[in-house]
Amino acid sequence: MSGKRTFTMIKPDAVESGNIGNILQMISNAGFSIKAMKFTQLSEERAKAFYAVHAERPFYGELVDYMSSGPIVAAILEKDNAVEDFRTLIGSTDPAEAAEGTIRKKYAESKGRNAVHGSDSDENAQIEGEFHFDANEVI
Ligand code: UDP
Ligand code: MG
Repeated sequence: MSGKRTFTMIKPDAVESGNIGNILQMISNAGFSIKAMKFTQLSEERAKAFYAVHAERPFYGELVDYMSSGPIVAAILEKDNAVEDFRTLIGSTDPAEAAEGTIRKKYAESKGRNAVHGSDSDENAQIEGEFHFDANEVI
């Protein structure tokens, strides 16, 4: 059975372009509730660790530099079928391929600077949530 929680980040490009509020509104309108949230910035070391699964990919260095380049918003979200429904809400990795009305279609700049992160499985949602939040920070 699919789980009720997922993990997201509003990435540095979307924070810099002033879209935190717009993106949170879309997340709320889609029926997600916030169980934890913080405004923070990843160090280079923490960005490397978060994206360690991509360490062998050609874009890893650029991804780490970008994700540590400015503040982000990290959040744990709750909804039935959270992981899959949130991936639908954010759209394809590349905004050029993302469906109309998705967060990435509206706010992403490029395949790399793509406005938001969304966990790809229940297991990773749990791991990524714990990467950013202590148990006492989660409602
Ligand atoms: N990324 C990139 N170039 C690529 C693929 C991915 O810069 O060709 C970046 C992009 O920011 C993406 C992140 O790496 O969101 C993680 O990639 P993944 O394939 O997991 O995409 P996502 O799950 O975020 O859609
Ligand atoms: Mg991914």
